[in-house]
Amino acid sequence: MMQFKSLMGIVSVCAALVLSGCNGDGSSDRNNQVQEKPKLQPIVIQGALPVESERMASKLENVSVETIGGWKFWKGTYKGYPMVVSKTRMGMSNSAAATAIAIQHYQPIAIINQGTSGGHDPDLKVFDIVLGKYTTNIGAFKTPNKPIGGGSNALEWNEAFDVLPEDESDPEPIAIRKFEGDKELLIAAYKAKVHYSKGQVVEGTIGSADTWNNELDRINFFHTKYGTSVEEMEAASVAQIAQQFKVPFLGVRILSNNITNNGAYDPATGEACQDYALEVAEQYMKAKADAK
Ligand code: SAH
Repeated sequence: MMQFKSLMGIVSVCAALVLSGCNGDGSSDRNNQVQEKPKLQPIVIQGALPVESERMASKLENVSVETIGGWKFWKGTYKGYPMVVSKTRMGMSNSAAATAIAIQHYQPIAIINQGTSGGHDPDLKVFDIVLGKYTTNIGAFKTPNKPIGGGSNALEWNEAFDVLPEDESDPEPIAIRKFEGDKELLIAAYKAKVHYSKGQVVEGTIGSADTWNNELDRINFFHTKYGTSVEEMEAASVAQIAQQFKVPFLGVRILSNNITNNGAYDPATGEACQDYALEVAEQYMKAKADAK
């Protein structure tokens, strides 16, 4: 009996030692950055789903994985440049939280939000890529007043709601807010274009909301009134957070589907966009390193 008790004592001391060595916040690898050649802060590339992030993560070298709350980050290097791949999960709240965490934890030089999207522009085909000159929230509106029994018609929702108004005392800021893509990231995105042969690459407006729109009249409304090229569920939310931390941002979205021209969903687009985003990140980091 005595022997069993002292054995248990040793086991619990060992367990405590193991646990205290596991701080879980990844601080142990913070000092390892000295080996990276160009002394730049990492660029963060986000993807919502595994099919929009894991390919990039698999191409990083010297990788360490960090999980903070529900969000996964792969920190490493790509072609010698420091990069962090972030799986944001779907939607506006998840991507906002992942962005705030990434900025606080990694102090990134810039953020690219990339992934799949649905076409609003009938001239764009599945595998075409939209570089977000603008990114805008298409989920925040003030509806008209209607009585009980008056029904609901989203085509009458003409008043976009700016959730980041300059005048915070205005309780009803009615305006469409377009977040501008960072110019240097856009230049890098254009340089990446020469390597892309699966579709065309165009500048456009990315519309984001926690909604998957399949009503063609509604899609046409966004396209004609706000100039949206594609819709998805994250980029405008990321832009909104990045702007408040003054971190350069660009949305890069591939069309995985386009119901305006019968473009059927193709899951291979997720991988193609990741390859494109890595190229954009490389071009951006190269320009930054050359400027040093
Ligand atoms: N495998 C799914 C697609 C992914 S679910 C399917 O085909 O049903 C939603 C995710 O894909 C979101 O992260 C969003 O950013 C993106 N997305 C792709 N096409 C979209 C569309 N037409 N509308 C809204 N989000 C879209």
